[in-house]
Amino acid sequence: MTARIGLTGGIGSGKSTVAAMFASWDVPVLDLDQVGRELTARADVVQQLAASFGNDIMNDEGKLDRKALARRVFADAEALQRLNRLLHPLIWQREAQWLAQLDAPFAVIEASALIESGEISRMDAVIVVLADAALRRQRVAARGYPDIALFDDIIRQQVDDEQRMAVADYRIDNQGDLASLEAQTRGVYEVLNRHYSLDSDRCRD
Ligand code: ATP
Repeated sequence: MTARIGLTGGIGSGKSTVAAMFASWDVPVLDLDQVGRELTARADVVQQLAASFGNDIMNDEGKLDRKALARRVFADAEALQRLNRLLHPLIWQREAQWLAQLDAPFAVIEASALIESGEISRMDAVIVVLADAALRRQRVAARGYPDIALFDDIIRQQVDDEQRMAVADYRIDNQGDLASLEAQTRGVYEVLNRHYSLDSDRCRD
């Protein structure tokens, strides 16, 4: 069985950059935020969302207005919970299908709300990427984040780095440059590789 390694961190912490490093070393990577985006492109899911959040979250073509939904849920904790209750079972189903077709000792599952949503309990181990909020804001702004005001709402809805550290099996400190990020990520990869490859050897005995 493939072990599930959760990868999380605050907005702009460097999760996707770390995930891309794992992928470059042939580790299977699933981005749950991307799975969520794919699901919310489906007409039946948009209809369910509109029934719960009102037609304002749809554009004139009946497609999801992602910005409108984001503004709504990141300003209101109850709305975010409602969105999660609706989407999570669908996301988990996709994740299970993806894992079932893998032949790898471990896979990385990237999710921005891994801790907030309680998904962490489904993981075999958790990596958190940490960087202080001012630096994250700066990096996200440099990336050309479309709505920087939303950044502050998202930060407010996310757990803080202290809470992330409390649940982390592996911590990656992304205060430095990309070379430092890569060196730390490589270190975690090597530990995981040893640990889970040994486990699968034992299983085969
Ligand atoms: P989000 O929460 O928005 O999905 P994320 O946690 O996946 O963000 P990334 O997209 O990996 O974060 O990183 C945010 C931005 O910061 C990207 O443009 C990335 O290239 C840049 N970045 C990440 N780490 C570093 C670093 N150590 N030095 C410089 N830039 C970095």
